[in-house]
Amino acid sequence: MKAAVIAVGNEVLFGDTVNTNGAFVAAELTAAKVQMVLQTVVPDQISQLVAAISQARRVADLVVLIGGLGPTVDDITRQAIADATGCPLQLDPTALADVERYFAERRRPMSQSNRQQALVPVGGQALANQRGTAPGLWLEVDSQVVVALPGPPIELAPMFRETVLPRLRQRLEGGRQVIWLRTSGIGESTLQDMLGDLLTTTNPSVLPYAKLGEVHLRILADAASQPAAEQMAAQRLAAVMALIGPYVYGQGDVSLESVLLDRLRQRQQTVAVSESATGGLISARLSDPAGASQVFLGGSIVYTASAKVHFGALDAGELRRHGPVSAWAAEELAHSVRHQLDATWGLASCGWAGPEADGEVGLAYTAVAGSAGVTWREHRLGHNRHDVRHRLAQAALWHLYQVLDEAE
Ligand code: ATP
Ligand code: MG
Repeated sequence: MKAAVIAVGNEVLFGDTVNTNGAFVAAELTAAKVQMVLQTVVPDQISQLVAAISQARRVADLVVLIGGLGPTVDDITRQAIADATGCPLQLDPTALADVERYFAERRRPMSQSNRQQALVPVGGQALANQRGTAPGLWLEVDSQVVVALPGPPIELAPMFRETVLPRLRQRLEGGRQVIWLRTSGIGESTLQDMLGDLLTTTNPSVLPYAKLGEVHLRILADAASQPAAEQMAAQRLAAVMALIGPYVYGQGDVSLESVLLDRLRQRQQTVAVSESATGGLISARLSDPAGASQVFLGGSIVYTASAKVHFGALDAGELRRHGPVSAWAAEELAHSVRHQLDATWGLASCGWAGPEADGEVGLAYTAVAGSAGVTWREHRLGHNRHDVRHRLAQAALWHLYQVLDEAE
């Protein structure tokens, strides 16, 4: 099956809104063995959208439209589908009842324009929207499928995964299994060396994607059936894990911080953080997952020397002697924040983020303090300020992850 994805809206076309929906849908379709052949962005302009749908139908069996399903005049997607396919709009009573219920449950008056959202091309179906007012659309015409999804990502993603994908699967032949692995603490080239021949096979294929501070790996297997694809992917996964297992912190949509918090929670342990060069990035990441407060206690941002003395309880003379970016400073910060908050673990960072610095730009230290003592690591993280800071946050979280691994 070949697919085209069309994002609708001036805000996306002009770059005010990043087309994350397009990326999401394309990635999900690819993982489901649908071949992406076209992706476009069109303005809120009906003739252009009609033209785009017609163009997409010439090259694809599946056309997915994103956005423009709302009740306002610039929401033209329904009408454009009707015009492009020749299936006129009619009111769908079930869809109308859904929209009415949405407003009734929220005790909000429903305007006349919201009725438009219950319009469906003849032969098509409305797709219920659990998180918003605009129903989606599913239309089969000339053995092609046209799907329309609401623009807000929190409405689009569940509708796509829960309703659209299962329907598409019925039309797909064969199976495809995709496994995403997330690694940290290792560069892309080292990873490639370690994986060797595994990277050159085509089915299953293993593809590395370098991100800031981590590398993701995609394992993809195609087979005549879904169970066969899953088995092929599982075998390749085992081979990959045998080579790089210690660097893999998770599978699928997980973050290093969420894995770390889960592990600490299982052990009923806590962590406190003292950050210099990262300025709060580590704490922001550790406080992001829900339920973080059981594990992440807090800490301090000790950006300047006086903050290190004041909040980090570092000795001013010693700090001058060792320097603010030193193994000593990292160790002392990790140690003191652990004591101050009575945490199982103290985690600290310091480094020269640049571009102007009193030391070597990119040089940084992390330290992890625990009941058995403190360990520190030295890092060289490049020359770009943004990258150095984010890589350092990653390095700190990874340092703690590995210390936990060893303490297992
Ligand atoms: P609504 O009923 O909320 O108006 P809609 O289906 O009409 O939904 P739009 O009006 O096109 O959708 O977009 C609503 C919001 O969804 C936008 O303000 C934007 O924040 C987000 N959005 C729209 N298109 C995209 C996209 N391609 N990628 C990411 N976000 C998007
Ligand atoms: Mg809208």
